Amino acid sequence: MATISVFDIFKIGVGPSSSHTMGPWKAAQAFIQKIDIEKTATIVTDLYGSLSKTGIGHGTDLAVMLGLSDFNVKTIDTNKINKYIDNIKYSGQLKLKNEKFIDFIAHEHIIFNNTMLPFHPNGIKFTAFYTDGDIHQETYYSIGGGFICQEGDDLSVDLVNVIPYPINTSKELENWIKETGTSAIEVIRRNELALRTEEELTERIAELWKNMQDSIYNGCHKFGILPGGLEVERRAPILNRQLIKREDYKNRKQWKAAIINEKYSFSQILKWVSCFALAVNEENAAFSRVVTAPTNGAAGVIPSVLMYHHCFNNQSAKDIENFLLIAGEIGSLFKKGATISAAMGGCQAEIGVSSAMAAAGLTAVNGGKCKQILMAAEIAMEHHLGLTCDPVNGLVQIPCIERNTMGAIKAITASQIALSSDPAKARISLDEVIRTMWETAQDMNTKYKETSDGGLAKIVREMIAEC
Ligand code: SF4
Repeated sequence: MATISVFDIFKIGVGPSSSHTMGPWKAAQAFIQKIDIEKTATIVTDLYGSLSKTGIGHGTDLAVMLGLSDFNVKTIDTNKINKYIDNIKYSGQLKLKNEKFIDFIAHEHIIFNNTMLPFHPNGIKFTAFYTDGDIHQETYYSIGGGFICQEGDDLSVDLVNVIPYPINTSKELENWIKETGTSAIEVIRRNELALRTEEELTERIAELWKNMQDSIYNGCHKFGILPGGLEVERRAPILNRQLIKREDYKNRKQWKAAIINEKYSFSQILKWVSCFALAVNEENAAFSRVVTAPTNGAAGVIPSVLMYHHCFNNQSAKDIENFLLIAGEIGSLFKKGATISAAMGGCQAEIGVSSAMAAAGLTAVNGGKCKQILMAAEIAMEHHLGLTCDPVNGLVQIPCIERNTMGAIKAITASQIALSSDPAKARISLDEVIRTMWETAQDMNTKYKETSDGGLAKIVREMIAEC
């Protein structure tokens, strides 16, 4: 199986969806590396399956245009995305790979097909039409969490020869701990250090944490209605205003200090956890910058739990890094043993996995032993099993935004239970719950896998039709 780094699981990007926005964006960028830009007259993109059914709400068409233009997801000014898209739409021209203008009529050149490709529910086919009459065609699949592949790719090509401790199951992680006589954090850190220097590891973790905090802070301070037509009001700034006791802060640092230096009741802390999660996912829904963790729809759970620990627990300097290393490893176990794609497994694969990751990270930084860390992840996932994906109007808003608050709270509870339990008495292992999640995913009806054909999406559509 492939080796997955913590930086594959956590990626800085743009909302609202890792599989439906970032994956197609990345696929478009991969495609333009393979074509003859000079000879290209235009490009047609065919979207299939879930990408087609919920692509409008998830901004897949916008992502394709930005990817073909070769904008970088990490550095694009998210405030200008609407302007870039309007320029393409009004001019009928797209600056391919930021090099050459081609004719491009968005509603004609991006086709939402009512079919699904057999390999994976998120299929995307690009066709470049050359001036000499030739074409170049490639098909990609967005397989969750911003990862893409092509049919026939050997996903097992990996770095097992590079990293000292390959881990595909939680059992293997435990075995390495036994063999090396060290901790889970240390085993995972040594694997990361086989891929990069200590300085790079520290820098990149700091960059992730900065972006997570930015998305929380920004979301806590932007009032208004989210785009897409559902008229969903941003609630994080309202909660922030209710909870914050000192309002004389001028920036994120001062705001955080204002929270840390106050005494909050249990109920208020609970509200802060929800506020942090809402903030990130309201930013995500507004096409702003977030950290994929392990997906964009679930991007609020981990920052929220980490911020909770940062503000309300006695934390040490290394906690951010240790939390993210453990959480990242748990995310990769789910990716290897099941899926982190809602189009494959419903929302259990997004919110469920992020909750398990956060529970494990929180347990690790609160002194949990490896078995307790794994137990926390197992408990968190156990209570998300079967959770369906049914985004109303294909937007990552209802139920997605609130669902992140639930994932965060369950993660904290799971961690507390694990920390006060004897894991030797646990009846279910993390590997077993991962297997259960995968079997549940395979049994789940397609209408609950990011198609907006069932659940809340269907009921709301019917209600609107009746009005
Ligand atoms: S319902 Fe869950 S899996 Fe589906 S789009 Fe929303 S957050 Fe993602």
